[in-house]
Amino acid sequence: MSDVAPDYAPVDQVLISVSTQGLDIPDEAALTEQIRQELTGWFGEGVLAWRHLRTYSIPHALPLYNPEQAGEDALQKPLQLTPNLYQCGDQTAYPSLNAAMQTGREVAELIGKNSGVVKSGSSY
Ligand SMILES: Cc1cc2nc3c(=O)[nH]c(=O)nc-3n(C[C@H](O)[C@H](O)[C@H](O)COP(=O)(O)OP(=O)(O)OC[C@H]3O[C@@H](n4cnc5c(N)ncnc54)[C@H](O)[C@@H]3O)c2cc1C
Repeated sequence: MSDVAPDYAPVDQVLISVSTQGLDIPDEAALTEQIRQELTGWFGEGVLAWRHLRTYSIPHALPLYNPEQAGEDALQKPLQLTPNLYQCGDQTAYPSLNAAMQTGREVAELIGKNSGVVKSGSSY
């Protein structure tokens, strides 16, 4: 986080954020240890020296999404609701920045096409 926003950490320190999904936190210490072990596999022994600061549990942070729902355009909700009403965002597809940007682009394309401003097949 502090590589992007240097004010988030004192000079010579870094702030790292780890997001997990769908994990109950009956025991915060055990969860922290589980995540530390997993991250050690990814980033090496240096992770053992990382200092845990805070854990935030954010209910309903993301739309529900199960492995069965994955797949090309699986379960994507309609982006046009009425002639003049559109929706985009992760809730229409899957919980990720990619889905937010993808559906935003698709809605922009739809509006362009439906308004006749952009001919179908034109590239942006
Ligand atoms: C902790 C966490 C970590 C994440 N990490 C990643 C990651 O590493 N990679 C990744 O791809 N995705 C990640 N995501 C998911 C990603 O942030 C979301 O999928 C993405 O931000 C969804 O974008 P969006 O524009 O659809 O919705 P949002 O970003 O939720 O934007 C919706 C906006 O609408 C506003 N709003 C809501 N209701 C109203 C209203 N009635 N009137 C006006 N405004 C309203 C909200 O305030 C908000 O600003 C993470 C999410 C969380 C919570």
